[in-house]
Amino acid sequence: MSGGSPEQTSVRGRPVVPGADPLEHVDDLVAEIRSTAFRFDESLVARIDAAIDAASSPREIGRLLVAKTLAVQGRGDPATAADLSRRAVPLLVAAGDLGHAAYASTMAAVFLDQAGQAAVGIEHAVDALVLLDDLVLDEIDVIRASLALAGFYVRRCAFDIAVDLARRAFDGAVQVDGAPLDAVAYTSGYIAAEGAHVTSDPLAREAYIVHARTTATWLRTSGQDEISRTLLGPGLDAEADLAAGQPVDADELDAAIPLYDTAVADFVAWHQLVRGLGAAQRDDLHLAIGLLSTAEPGLRASADDHCLVRALRTRSEAKAALGDLAGAYADAVTLADLTRRWQIEQVGGLADQIGRRADLERSSSALRRAAQRLRADIDRDPLTGVHSRHWLERELDAIARVGGAGAVVMLDVDRFKSVNDTYGHHVGDRVLGRVGELMRAASGAHPVARFGGEEFAVVIRCADAGPAIECAERIRREIEAFDWGAEAAGIALTISAGVAAGELADVRAIIVRADEALLCSKRNGRNRVTLSEPAPAPPRR
Ligand code: GH3
Ligand code: MG
Ligand code: MG
Repeated sequence: MSGGSPEQTSVRGRPVVPGADPLEHVDDLVAEIRSTAFRFDESLVARIDAAIDAASSPREIGRLLVAKTLAVQGRGDPATAADLSRRAVPLLVAAGDLGHAAYASTMAAVFLDQAGQAAVGIEHAVDALVLLDDLVLDEIDVIRASLALAGFYVRRCAFDIAVDLARRAFDGAVQVDGAPLDAVAYTSGYIAAEGAHVTSDPLAREAYIVHARTTATWLRTSGQDEISRTLLGPGLDAEADLAAGQPVDADELDAAIPLYDTAVADFVAWHQLVRGLGAAQRDDLHLAIGLLSTAEPGLRASADDHCLVRALRTRSEAKAALGDLAGAYADAVTLADLTRRWQIEQVGGLADQIGRRADLERSSSALRRAAQRLRADIDRDPLTGVHSRHWLERELDAIARVGGAGAVVMLDVDRFKSVNDTYGHHVGDRVLGRVGELMRAASGAHPVARFGGEEFAVVIRCADAGPAIECAERIRREIEAFDWGAEAAGIALTISAGVAAGELADVRAIIVRADEALLCSKRNGRNRVTLSEPAPAPPRR
């Protein structure tokens, strides 16, 4: 049945032949872990830790973390096992070992689920699904991953995904030497049979039944174990018969009864269920009730709710048909409770998942907003409100990359030092803030940047200096016309500008020429705009 651990579906004792794999020692360790039947062995864990300390590559560390997950999984501490396999995933992905990454991700999903972290678990299950999507299932661990993941999705009632994974695992396993084929065939067929019982899609049901029969036939004819040939194979065929509405062969099922003493308890409970369902099918209702009642504790212990639901439902119907209405009612109530609990788990898990997604969204949009704020802070000059020097430098790089014709206006407040000297720096600051405001208004669409101190720059894309001169003049006039007396009694302020035009690929050279023109304005009496002489011909750097 779809067990609670990724390893439960595997048959132990047949380790992979590692060949010339440099990670042979990891395979040896894993084989040793599997051979201890998952009994917790502290010294084995210590050896894995030592190997992790000595490991030289992410792949090796990843594989060792997977080994450690297997070694600790019997401890009843799924959170630790989940943590180990989660750490392995990125290392194995980075190393390109996608098969083992899928294996690790699957284990993370299963153990997180067991640890009560269903929402995070399903994220790892989705990762594993994506990782497995592109892989040929030709390695035992990848086959194990696929099957364990199928079990995970069965518990989530995602049968289409589960059966697909289970079928791929079986198809892969028959190609691989040393694959635990009996277990793969049974688990794969069982998942398909369960899918066939629950699906409402007749085409899907038919396909699931075909796969259940394929695995049943394989178990009957090629199963290594007597239990496979006599109990599991015919049992799966009976499941397929039930799902197809065909009569179950009771005699053949009964032939497996002597094997109950040696078979795993999960298998026995499931086989009793199938026999009970077969008895109900042929209206042998007393036998059906007896068998289903015998199976019930084992089905509960295997934590397979799908089987339990089928058992309770059929028993309730049988009791009702026999007139035991109280018994039928009791089963129906148990069934209702079970399905309700199940639904709460599933829907609750989904709600968890949505909540987590919303959290992620919120935190990432908060981050985005913070980044935008930071960006805006860096790009804006806080005192004057115009663009910062930082912004200008980035803009100049971008402008230079694109190139084309343009012009630069450099502006400098006249005799600003005397404002500070006369009224103090705080008034100077206020005045400078106002200058920035007036400049922004006067420059229109052309962005103004503070070049430094009381100097400003405007870069304009234009065919000649005309628009730049107009812009500089507008700013000059606005500053001159403003009523500065409102800022501090007796202040009058003007501004000087220099303009240069040229090829913007050399925008920084244009700035130098505009600055020279600005100096001319200062020398010639301030409060004026000077146009730089055209760019001198090469030599250029
Ligand atoms: P000129 O007409 O030749 O440009 O004369 P100027 O006094 O404006 O030139 P100078 O470069 O000698 O002085 C510029 C002054 O601008 C000096 C500096 O203290 C002042 N200044 C630069 N940045 C700020 C600022 O952020 N706040 C204040 N209050 N003053 C500043
Ligand atoms: Mg100045
Ligand atoms: Mg200056």
